[in-house]
Amino acid sequence: MKTCEQLLNLFPCGLKSWEKDLITRAYNFSREAHGEQKRYSGEPYFVHPVATAEILINLEQGPEVIAAGLLHDVVEDAGVSLDDLEKEFGKGVRLLVEGVSKVGALRLKQEQGSGNKEFIENLRHFFLVVAKDARVVFVKLADRLHNMRTLKYVPEHKQARIAKETMEIYAPLADRLGMGELKGELEDLSFFYLYPKEFAWLELESKKNFRGFKQKLPSIKKALSQVLRQANITFEIQARAKHWYSLYRKVSLNNNDFSRIYDIVALRVVVGTVEDCYGALGVIHHNWKPLLGRIKDYISQPKANGYQSLHTTIFGPFGQIVEVQIRTKEMHQQAEQGLAAHWHYSQIKSSSKASKDTLRNGVNAPREKINWVRTLLGWDREIGDDDQFLDNLKHDLLNERIFVFTPKGDVVDLPVGATPVDFAYALHSHIGDACSGAKIDGKMIPLSTKLKNGQIVEVVKGKRKKPSRSWLEFVVTVEAKRRIRRLVYAKD
Ligand code: MN
Repeated sequence: MKTCEQLLNLFPCGLKSWEKDLITRAYNFSREAHGEQKRYSGEPYFVHPVATAEILINLEQGPEVIAAGLLHDVVEDAGVSLDDLEKEFGKGVRLLVEGVSKVGALRLKQEQGSGNKEFIENLRHFFLVVAKDARVVFVKLADRLHNMRTLKYVPEHKQARIAKETMEIYAPLADRLGMGELKGELEDLSFFYLYPKEFAWLELESKKNFRGFKQKLPSIKKALSQVLRQANITFEIQARAKHWYSLYRKVSLNNNDFSRIYDIVALRVVVGTVEDCYGALGVIHHNWKPLLGRIKDYISQPKANGYQSLHTTIFGPFGQIVEVQIRTKEMHQQAEQGLAAHWHYSQIKSSSKASKDTLRNGVNAPREKINWVRTLLGWDREIGDDDQFLDNLKHDLLNERIFVFTPKGDVVDLPVGATPVDFAYALHSHIGDACSGAKIDGKMIPLSTKLKNGQIVEVVKGKRKKPSRSWLEFVVTVEAKRRIRRLVYAKD
């Protein structure tokens, strides 16, 4: 287990003294609170929050998120109250820990017994909590990752359920958010527990099939580096093995024919600029013939989760067919960390508006907030076959509810068919009463317009103090109906 000092030293950029202080206090508080509690492994429970915090530091999250990682289980497992937490660590940390606890466990449908309705409710709840602050998901995913890494200590009858939940809910969620590294590891760990025979088979077969290739890899790397250097491109080159589960899926799709898998290890060329990406691609193609139909330009056409890179497969040096991925540093970071990259501490720190205060209260610039919620829901993007979870989410959840935004980026959850008047009453009864018009995405629209998912709605207030009777013809929420009836039928 890392000491507090060791945790603090992991930070890539220096910390201010109040930030160090916050983390140190959270560290000590959590150790105290968990006391003698033990994990299944027999280790002190405190090992777990520390490991969670470490994963969050690797995602380059800020001191508040790290503190929340350290404290994420003290409310549920050590009986600390949220109010006490706020007194000790401020509102920002409280909101994060509260979010993580409120979200609770995302259980699979069949585990719930009471069926579909509760599952949808659970998802809806999850969505509302995380829509307020994306950083809650990062803590949640870090928590799950450490639990998966230590799953071997958990009693066997529980392992399968936890692994299944990870495979079906957490990994797709990480994928949707573009957090490629985390998704890959979650899938591999789940795969190991869910399909032990297949895992063992795959390990054995890939050793047999790829040994030759792996031996040649350093020489291939060298040859590639040479031609790039000659072209005066500044680059870094890494070899990255494909994740097990993703390899397994690919092999299965190819009738277990390993000879058709060209990206068991992909070479990653990381360059400075987008221009250099295309430059490098040109140089590589000039030296080694590309395989037809395997050149993909995810720079001009990014994947739905934001992934960008150029992919090509070449008849490479030493007669080896090899996949090469070319990207800039920023694209690389996006590919590994996805949405978390937008919440990077260093970026938040250096952005002009940031202050200690906004840091404490959770920095969510409205635009970014709206964009990320849209990303989560995957509007106007196609959803792949393997995105079953979010497909379900979209289908079940969004057939009944819509999510719209205030101009400040707050999410308002309404039933399908809701109008700007319903929206206004959902904000506050006085806002509803005074509603004289509304704008959607900046344009004036009739008050009876049915709202759609993802719209930004602005209420235009006039001198009116009382709702109009005609509104009853189109409002759908109970709050709006009740309030309007009461006021228009009241004797004045
Ligand atoms: Mn935990």
